[in-house]
Amino acid sequence: MSPDIKGGRQLLADVINRDLCSLCGACVGMCPYLTAYKGRVVALDDCNLDQGRCYAFCPRTTTDLDAASRAVFGAPYDAGPIGKARDVFMTRSAAGDVRSRGQYGGTVSALAAFALERGLIDSAVLTATGGGMLPEGTLVRAASEVIGCARSNYVAAPTLAAFNREARREDVAKVGVVATPCQALALAKMRASPLENRNNADKLGPVIGLFCTWALRYQEFARFLREKVALNEIKKFDIPPPPANVFQVFSDSTSLSIPLDDVRGFIRNTCNLCLDMTAELADVSVGAAEGVEGWNTLIVRSDRGAELVEAARAAGVLEVDALPDENLNHLKGASLGKRRRAFANIAAMTGSESDLLYLDISDELRRRLVEGE
Ligand SMILES: Cc1cc2nc3c(=O)[nH]c(=O)nc-3n(C[C@H](O)[C@H](O)[C@H](O)COP(=O)(O)OP(=O)(O)OC[C@H]3O[C@@H](n4cnc5c(N)ncnc54)[C@H](O)[C@@H]3O)c2cc1C
Ligand code: SF4
Ligand code: SF4
Repeated sequence: MSPDIKGGRQLLADVINRDLCSLCGACVGMCPYLTAYKGRVVALDDCNLDQGRCYAFCPRTTTDLDAASRAVFGAPYDAGPIGKARDVFMTRSAAGDVRSRGQYGGTVSALAAFALERGLIDSAVLTATGGGMLPEGTLVRAASEVIGCARSNYVAAPTLAAFNREARREDVAKVGVVATPCQALALAKMRASPLENRNNADKLGPVIGLFCTWALRYQEFARFLREKVALNEIKKFDIPPPPANVFQVFSDSTSLSIPLDDVRGFIRNTCNLCLDMTAELADVSVGAAEGVEGWNTLIVRSDRGAELVEAARAAGVLEVDALPDENLNHLKGASLGKRRRAFANIAAMTGSESDLLYLDISDELRRRLVEGE
């Protein structure tokens, strides 16, 4: 019995009541007690189990990064500036309609649809935006449905609740997931968990990670935005690269450029304590290719990720090009910057350089993460 794994009551005390929850959804959809409601995890009743999967999988409870990395890559954590990276490319969907409906190059939608079409996965866990701009995890079983979840909702979503529900089904063998970095970490903790019930983590197919600097709290941000635009008419959000410093909202009837500083106040507290910008525990990670319109940056991390990308390229589904050196250097700098800010914010919160809150890592790994070595 691992002393680091506690029960649901302690999850409330250690994570939710301390405003450390990222709303990844890993603790939702497994038991009758925890549910997600309008951008929050809510306990419907008191759970007195000593140990729970909710606590074990949460990315904000004690986290051994080496163990999580071993579960994904079979090797300790790679502290290089963007984590374990076999290759970095610039990519986009080969289909014009996917590109026009996707956030940038539609790489994520192209890969998820391809994996479904080829039978590499039975279902994909994606994130769909529902009424009132509320994002939720959703299950997609046909390639044609993937595009319905395209584009980025910068509000945090409890996506992994959908994985928890789907992995239970006996007729499902492989489930792919599109995940933010904290969600990829929760999935890695699921795979690494010493608990007998690892929530069918063996059914986890390729994890397509998204770059992420922060995500927003739903209720307060929705209230703020509702004064400017009808939420149900929003078609797209975007954050163009610096020096723009704006948050863009496109709807049926209007387009808005809101100063980014007005939006920062809605960032979830836990995002300031998050080390990972590029989903370092995913099989592949996808973000913008800054300054190159209509293209993505794609990091290939695992064998499984390399096979998926190569098969999609060979099938003519994915266009692959070299990422300019300037973009790669900038990405590494931004990723290291996020790690350094997170360590500083954690120390400010705990009041101690040695109390790393949720991180159970050696001094040496911490040094390497900060230096990107
Ligand atoms: C909260 C958030 C913050 C981000 N921050 C950055 C950043 O700082 N830098 C950067 O380069 N890129 C960032 N991205 C990623 C970027 O916005 C694109 O998602 C990514 O580049 C893929 O582009 P695409 O054209 O391939 O996407 P598409 O093909 O349009 O696919 C987008 C996918 O995103 C998923 N998705 C949408 N909203 C959410 C959500 N709230 N939670 C989880 N999954 C979601 C959908 O399932 C969809 O499959 C962020 C994304 C999110 C959701
Ligand atoms: S971070 Fe994820 S697992 Fe932890 S409490 Fe929040 S939703 Fe649950
Ligand atoms: S910044 Fe980190 S904690 Fe916040 S949503 Fe992104 S990955 Fe999750």
